[in-house]
Order: sequence, then structure tokens, then C-alpha cells
Amino acid sequence: ASGPLRLEDWIRDIPDFPQKGVLFRDITPLLQNPEAFRAAIDRLAAHYSGAGIQTVVGVESRGFIFAAPLAYLLGCGFVPVRKFGKLPAKTVSVEYALEYGTNIVEMHTDAIKPGERVLIVDDLLATGGTVSAAMELVEKLGGHIAGIAFLVELTYLKGRERLKGYDVFALIKY
Ligand code: IMP
Repeated sequence: ASGPLRLEDWIRDIPDFPQKGVLFRDITPLLQNPEAFRAAIDRLAAHYSGAGIQTVVGVESRGFIFAAPLAYLLGCGFVPVRKFGKLPAKTVSVEYALEYGTNIVEMHTDAIKPGERVLIVDDLLATGGTVSAAMELVEKLGGHIAGIAFLVELTYLKGRERLKGYDVFALIKY
């Protein structure tokens, strides 16, 4: 039977990756399928069209895959949030906690203008630590976070609770 394409049919579960006990949601089958990839981008674009988004921020590295075509369709610029040491010009940076150790992410200081309406995009929301760091960068530069979008949300990790007060949207929820 055919009906609307179900995006979750194109996510593959990998048990015990990257370590024992973790169920990894692998999005590469969705990226590989032309209809599924197009549907994902089109549904994100439909959700934010008319929302007055001025800039789309993508989180390295899988966030880039969704943020760039979305920026294109929304008629916005694209801004990368990158891991420490990758951006060549003057940056702002934020350090955040990982399960073991810390990570630093950066954004160019001139990437966002004060008051600009920004959409932040990543592939997947787990605990919310990664996207919170990206949010801090945007707000350090005076940007207004108009939305936070994901392909996948792992609701059982309660990342959304860390993002209280913000407009959070996910195409697929587990
Ligand atoms: P968080 O910081 O705990 O919300 O983890 C989200 C980040 O880790 C995202 O940038 C994801 O790319 C990555 N991530 C965590 N779990 C998974 C997964 O099951 N599949 C794909 N990416 C994941």
C-alpha cells in the first residue's frame, strides 16, 4: 500500500554503537534515498516557511546536511557551528560537557547580527547538550533563536526539557 512517505522507515537502528548498551539511530539510509531525503527537507521547509527566518545555523557535521538545503529553500544564508580550531576568522566559543570530558564549538563573530531571527538545525536531539552550546553561541552574538529543528528526537532522553521556552520541532520522534 502506498501513502505518505514514512520517514522513520528510513532510519536504521544499530545496537551497541558507539558503545555497548547504546541504540544508535543511523540516518544514512534516509540520506541515501532520494524520495526520503527530499521529503525530509521539504517538510522542514514547509514548517518554517513564513516564520521570518533570516539565517539557518547548522551544527557540525550532520546538521550541515539538513541546514544547507533548508537555508537554500527558505532563501536564507547558512552559518556553520564548528568544532574548535576549524574556523579561520575571529570566533566566539562555548565549552560544553560530554559524557567523558568536554568539547568546544565555535562560530564566526560576524556570522549573526543582533536581533537576527535564527533557526538552528541538527540531525538529532538526544540530551540536548550539543544544541545548547550552539544556542549559547547564537545568543552571545545577540541573535534571536526563532526555532530549533531536528530530523530525529529521542524523547526518552528528555533533551526538550533543556530547551524549555524555545520552539523545538522534530520530524521523527522515538
Ligand atoms: P546530545 O548533545 O546528547 O543532544 O546529542 C546529540 C548529538 O549527538 C547530535 O549532534 C547527533 O549528531 C549525535 N547523536 C547522538 N545520538 C545519536 C544517534 O543515535 N544517532 C545519530 N546521532 C546521534
